[in-house]
Amino acid sequence: MKDAPLYLRPRVDPPLASLLRDAPFLHALCDALGSPLNVLLPETVAENAERFRSVYRRHHLAGRVYFAHKANRSSALVRRLAACDPAAVGIDVASLEELRHALGCGFTGERVMATGPKDRDFLWLAARVGATVNLDSAGELEQLAHLVRRYRLGRVDVLVRLSEFESDGGRTGAGTRVLSRRSRFGTPVGRAGEVWEALERHPDAVELTGLAYHLDTTALEEKARALERCVLLMDECRGRGLRPRAVDIGGGFGAGYVADAGEWERWTTALSEAVLGVRPPLTWRGHGYGLRNEGGTVRGTAALYPAHRSVAGPGYLDALLSRPAPALGRPPATLLLEHLNDLYVEPGRALVDQCGLSLARVLDVRPTGDDPTRHLVRLGMNAGDVSLEEHGVLVDPVLLPRAGAAGRRDAPPGGGPVGVHLAGNLCLEADLITRRVVYLPRLPRAGDLLAFVNTAGYAMDFHAHHAQRQPSARTVAVTRGEGAWRWCPDEDYWPITDPQGGPS
Ligand SMILES: *Cc1c(COP(=O)(O)O)cnc(C)c1O
Repeated sequence: MKDAPLYLRPRVDPPLASLLRDAPFLHALCDALGSPLNVLLPETVAENAERFRSVYRRHHLAGRVYFAHKANRSSALVRRLAACDPAAVGIDVASLEELRHALGCGFTGERVMATGPKDRDFLWLAARVGATVNLDSAGELEQLAHLVRRYRLGRVDVLVRLSEFESDGGRTGAGTRVLSRRSRFGTPVGRAGEVWEALERHPDAVELTGLAYHLDTTALEEKARALERCVLLMDECRGRGLRPRAVDIGGGFGAGYVADAGEWERWTTALSEAVLGVRPPLTWRGHGYGLRNEGGTVRGTAALYPAHRSVAGPGYLDALLSRPAPALGRPPATLLLEHLNDLYVEPGRALVDQCGLSLARVLDVRPTGDDPTRHLVRLGMNAGDVSLEEHGVLVDPVLLPRAGAAGRRDAPPGGGPVGVHLAGNLCLEADLITRRVVYLPRLPRAGDLLAFVNTAGYAMDFHAHHAQRQPSARTVAVTRGEGAWRWCPDEDYWPITDPQGGPS
């Protein structure tokens, strides 16, 4: 007997939806450029930046939106952002190569924020071009100050990244309560004094322009508490004669992948039931995504991204700024305004929301050995090419049949929804695109395409590799022009409206 399909259908907004409806265009692209193929919509990244800006305007806040480059390697996305209002949009780079790439895409140094742990070469170039250095530790500050003096680089703007926000009793030791998760990055708030002293030792080399944090969580309360604490620490810095202006609240605004809350609810409930053994497995060999059955009770926490989000991206920033913060009981937006602080954000995933998709050709379809109702669909891609599973993001691909195939004589009998396993192109038992059984509206055929939607944030190239010399995905940028989609290789895209005849 067939089980009822448990869909996790993707959220698809207008420009991406219209691209998906143009299946002949996507098939033609894949025929020409191979599978896998990444497709990006650079206009959408600019629209997303504008949505973040409108939240700033609503709260009368000044400051910049810095794109966290690590979410995607694309040149088209970075160039399109470089073409945005320089006062409004910057870029956050976390390596020497990301910095070089951003500069080559048109960002001037003054719009760049250098984050993460940095080696000397990265620090030198960041200082040389006038980037803001988001300092990870007092040691990094010492190293930067040394470089500035030794190579006469001119004073560098710095932010101090803080972590492990504690209650005020924290420093005395008694009743220490760490109110945000521990992090490998940044200086624990309890040791901020060491950084203030280091700043005071090097006033000729560095200038403190703000305080920063980045908490990798979706918890609003935790972020509001950190934001509030930073506002207070800004005053402490001013009291010491330092002149910070901005609070940088990092990224982590998130994106919603699954359109329907009910589908997400049903699937996660079914996962628990499957772990308990009261319904058939939903996954390859009963994988539990971190959940386990202990004597009839579900234990553990599912290592899954909350794929359906009621609030994400700019809406999440709006909520964070609006709700009263825990200690002072006032909205962070008001605190920032009253204390004359600018706001910096560093969205990665949220800024590239709806900016792209990853295409894979169906190579082969056959029944699985252990369950004749399940099929194994082998794709021209592997788990490194679309690393949704790696990030715990569960969402269905969209089936794009090959044109004209619908009436083919070899069409499988009894079409309709089927549960399939999606396997990759590596000779590895573990190379599954997802360990979840994926329900499709009908059984695909060799030659069809599966489109994984909304992969521009981390899923496209973060884990891509060259194992078995399988082709890695090419990336193309697409733009809508006069009723038809136009494409070019990612590296050839420049944000110029009319590539033939100059400005239009
Ligand atoms: C990864 C990272 C970001 C972006 O995080 P998202 O969850 O993609 O928004 C921002 N800032 C820093 C310091 C990061 O490491």
